[in-house]
Amino acid sequence: MSYVGPDFDPPQPRRSRRGPMTVALAALVPGALVGWLVWQAVGDPGGPSGAAASSSASSASPSSGAAASRTPSASGTDEGQRRSPSPSGASTGSGPSTAGGPAASGPLKGKVVVVDPGHNPGNFEHTADINRKVNIGTNSKECDTTGTSTNAGYAEARFTLDVARRLRTLLQQEGATVKFTQDGGRPWGPCVDERARIGNDAHADAVVSIHADGSAAGNRGFHVILPASVHSGDADTRPIVAPSRDLGERIAGNFVRATGSAPSNYIGGGTGLDVRSDLGGLNLSTVPKVFIECGNMRDSKDAALLTSGAWRQKAARGISEGIVGFLRG
Ligand SMILES: [Zn+2]
Repeated sequence: MSYVGPDFDPPQPRRSRRGPMTVALAALVPGALVGWLVWQAVGDPGGPSGAAASSSASSASPSSGAAASRTPSASGTDEGQRRSPSPSGASTGSGPSTAGGPAASGPLKGKVVVVDPGHNPGNFEHTADINRKVNIGTNSKECDTTGTSTNAGYAEARFTLDVARRLRTLLQQEGATVKFTQDGGRPWGPCVDERARIGNDAHADAVVSIHADGSAAGNRGFHVILPASVHSGDADTRPIVAPSRDLGERIAGNFVRATGSAPSNYIGGGTGLDVRSDLGGLNLSTVPKVFIECGNMRDSKDAALLTSGAWRQKAARGISEGIVGFLRG
């Protein structure tokens, strides 16, 4: 990935242990991470996962500090490499699936949500196909990447598909029409440009691309990636920057609430939000879209969460609630 250096500033003098962090968060994302702020206010400061962001920000433990000061690309953040899309994989099998039953009558009736399960479990066996370059507006990038995995071998592509399916069920219960970019029915891909096109062609009201990161051990927590303003070649994200931020902030806030996980301690300065201009899936989108990195598969504590079905259900619920809030306004 393209992140260099820690986003956290060294601890500043503070009067109370939580005050400054709360203020900083509030200033950075007004109203966005209300759930997180509430959690932080009531959470046990010494408690488990939750305290990660604030404690690492203020006391930079040896491990997380060291990890944070390294370049993410070195640590293998997978989104860094993946980025480029392309059509040929398009043929296949399940193609964009609409798997959904009859959209019920819920608050999201009439709304279309495209869910993009990052990568494809079959990408590992189709390296030539996924390495092919595709145009992402600003430049060309690989069609797709394999994604990362936990140290024990649980693949990100399995994780993303599982969370996506849980999310689909939840959104359909709200009445939404849900479409997938792939549902495990094709041998590889699709390429990132095709993933974007599926959302565009569906005239989606919201698109979320689901991932888990592959960063250094000690790096923990989730972050939502928002599209930067990009206007180059086939990419023009200017119309979607603001609504995508709204969508992303709502997902981040609800993800904290649903999972109890803290925002990333290595990207986003504790906000749980990041902005990028190098992801084809965002650059080529013409509809509101965000990525979410649900956790770091290469950290053992995060991996324990990511490999838990119960936790993945919470993750899906957090994402769903964020989308519902965005679509209901
Ligand atoms: Zn990924």
